[in-house]
Amino acid sequence: MLGTMKPTLSVVTGASRGLGHAVAVQLLARGERLITVSRRAPAGLSSPQLLHWDADLADAGAVARRLHDWLAAQGPQAFAAVNLINNAGVIAELAPMGNVADADLTNAVRVGLEAPMRLTAAFLRATRGWPVPRKVVLVSSGLGRRAMAGSASYCAAKAGLDHLARALALEEAARPGGARIVSLAPGVIDTDMQVQLRGADRSRFPEGDRFEQLRTTGRLDSPEQAAAKVLAYLARPDFGSTPVADVRDA
Ligand code: NAP
Repeated sequence: MLGTMKPTLSVVTGASRGLGHAVAVQLLARGERLITVSRRAPAGLSSPQLLHWDADLADAGAVARRLHDWLAAQGPQAFAAVNLINNAGVIAELAPMGNVADADLTNAVRVGLEAPMRLTAAFLRATRGWPVPRKVVLVSSGLGRRAMAGSASYCAAKAGLDHLARALALEEAARPGGARIVSLAPGVIDTDMQVQLRGADRSRFPEGDRFEQLRTTGRLDSPEQAAAKVLAYLARPDFGSTPVADVRDA
């Protein structure tokens, strides 16, 4: 009976704009329950299915506790499936690392690596033993796998997500009903992050030309296209069998 069907719950970070926003729009269109987490609410989105939590993921402790307690209060029977999509990410000033302010480096790693780790820990702890599919996406990048000068902290955070996924996949595979984890590169997407890469000072970040070329040759996905690819990957029956993946391999 449709009226008694349980919804899927997805928690999406960084849904105020860019890829995360498009993911949130597509999940709401499917009738999913959604929690979004970022410093600003997702522009133009409102629905009884949507809860937005304002949080600065550079300081993820409070929102990780909030996520744990909220999930624990819902209980194991509330949802048909639960997903955590750690999408928020940030690039520090694009320059050789010795030229970048310490606070900027710290922010890139806190938002890009520490926050996904803490939210994932809270999610796994709160939903352990739930008799439903539990999936975690860590939105990574090709730059976690191919180093690029001028963005060392971003490369390090994304490589960290990849190895976090490998280790977590081993832990969860050892548990009955363990969660499935994938660190997923989403392709190259026409968002504010690309504007930042293209707009960087070429004397400190010559790679900016390559990003300009990606745009002029039409190689960028729209946020909507990229979101559809991420969600198609999430829905794959073999999700989690390869802990480090790329939507372009699908
Ligand atoms: P974006 O347009 O720059 O959006 C970043 C999102 O992260 C925003 O919603 C922002 O929300 C949130 N965020 C940033 N700092 C935050 C903080 N301190 N606390 C809370 N939320 C914060 O980025 P995007 O291009 O959509 O990227 C999404 C993900 O894909 C990122 O992980 C990125 O590394 C990855 N990725 C992107 C590309 C690409 O070509 N764009 C390629 C590979 C991987 P608020 O500012 O409202 O807080």
